Amino acid sequence: MEAIILLGAPGSGKGTAAERLVGCLGVRHVSSGDLLRSAVKQGTPAGREADGYMKQGKLVPDELIGRIITDLLVAGGADLQVLLDGFPRTVAQAEMLETVVAAQGGRIRGTVLLDVAEEILIERLAGRLMCPACSKGYHVRTLPPRVAGKCDACQVDLVQRKDDNSETVRQRLGVFRKDTAPLIEWYGARGLLVRVDGVGAADEVAGRIVQALQ
Ligand code: AMP
Repeated sequence: MEAIILLGAPGSGKGTAAERLVGCLGVRHVSSGDLLRSAVKQGTPAGREADGYMKQGKLVPDELIGRIITDLLVAGGADLQVLLDGFPRTVAQAEMLETVVAAQGGRIRGTVLLDVAEEILIERLAGRLMCPACSKGYHVRTLPPRVAGKCDACQVDLVQRKDDNSETVRQRLGVFRKDTAPLIEWYGARGLLVRVDGVGAADEVAGRIVQALQ
C-alpha cells in the first residue's frame, strides 16, 4: 500500500486537486470529509456521532475517523494506492496512519502541503458549492458549473455546505492552525513534506503537485 497525503487548510483546494490527480496518478481518492458526510446522511452510528462536531466546524474524535480510515486501508490490501484528502488532521491521526501503513508493509510516498493565504481561503469558502450527489466541488466565480446551480456530471442542484457559513469557517480555520498545522513540521522532520502553491487554475495546481511528487 502506498499513500499520498494532501494537507491544507479548508478551502485550499484539496478536493479539487484530488479530482484531477486520480486520473494522472492512478490513485484512489479518499476524502475523510466525504466519508463522514455520507455517514451522516445515512444515519450510521459513526455519522450520528460525527454530526454535531461537523456542524460546529470542530474535528470529530481521532478514534472515530481513525477507525474509518484504518478499516478502509486494511480492506484495500497491498495493492492499494491512495490519495488521502483531509486525513490526517492531527498528530495523533498521523501516528495512527503510520502504524497501519507499517503493519500493511506499505509506505507514505509524500505529503503535499497546499499553500494558500487566509484571505483567499475565506473568499473561496464563501463562494463554494458542492454537488450533494457526487460531492464534486465548484466555485460561483472561479470554478462555475456549465449551467448555473447544476452539477456538470449529475445535473443535480448544487448546495452550499452547512459548514461553509462565515462563523463555522472562522472556527475551522482556527482548528487548522491549532491542530493540523503541527503536521507540517511533523512530516517535514520525516523528509516527507513538499510545499505547493495552491493559487491558480485547478489544472495548474494539479500539475504542480504531480511535479512535486516526482
Ligand atoms: P472537509 O470536507 O475535509 O473540510 O471536512 C469536513 C468536516 O469533517 C471537518 O470540519 C471535520 O468536522 C470533519 N473531518 C474531516 N476529516 C477529519 C479528520 N481527519 N479528523 C477530524 N475531523 C474530520
